Amino acid sequence: MDPKSLREEMVATQLIPRGIKDHRVLDAMRRVPRHLFAGEANLHNAYDDMALSIGEGQTISQPYMVAVMTELLELKGTEKVLEIGTGSGYQGAMLAELAKDVYSIERIAILADRAASRFRSLSYQNIHVRTGDGTLGWPQEAPFDRIIITAAAPKIPEPLLDQLGMNGILVIPVGSSFSQILLKIRKTEKGLIEEHHTPCVFVPLIGEYGWKKDS
Ligand code: SAH
Repeated sequence: MDPKSLREEMVATQLIPRGIKDHRVLDAMRRVPRHLFAGEANLHNAYDDMALSIGEGQTISQPYMVAVMTELLELKGTEKVLEIGTGSGYQGAMLAELAKDVYSIERIAILADRAASRFRSLSYQNIHVRTGDGTLGWPQEAPFDRIIITAAAPKIPEPLLDQLGMNGILVIPVGSSFSQILLKIRKTEKGLIEEHHTPCVFVPLIGEYGWKKDS
């Protein structure tokens, strides 16, 4: 099957039956060429219902998890978004399709460089990639309307909460290094509102306000 048909099938069998409803999210999942982010070794199963290894011990999340996290962000197209954990760049491309501007931080330089060159070759001009410790955020560009962390955190990094604008939404997997729960935090005048969503398993968020090292 060609990639476009594989994406159509992915949406019809993995996303809609599990409750993804936001049409803009479903349409972006139909558009973004996941196989170009998954890497050569994963070409044959780029659209399968699973996470895939992208080298450097890191993964590209399962399509369903990308869709869930993106839907939770409630993007309308006007937002400035911060992503922590660029990885392959697939989630970043989804955000670039659905928001105004995307700022994405990756701690492993080789992954950040690869993702940036994919964005260039696919002509995404509204996504900016930087190598560094994303738990510190991107203070020069704050505040952000939305923040998404695509690695598992022991707790919500304080600098990211500070850099979230009023009425902003932050989505993050929080828990142990083996399993987490996806949290959605909304910043309101009355304080933070926290919702618990699906259980999940992400690679660790490593940094000053995350896990301390690779072990
Ligand atoms: N969103 C990615 C998947 C990310 S996997 C995609 O669509 O492919 C998680 C990524 O978070 C890994 O690449 C890992 O290197 C990165 N990461 C872990 N800790 C980080 C930190 N403190 N700052 C930035 N990136 C981090």
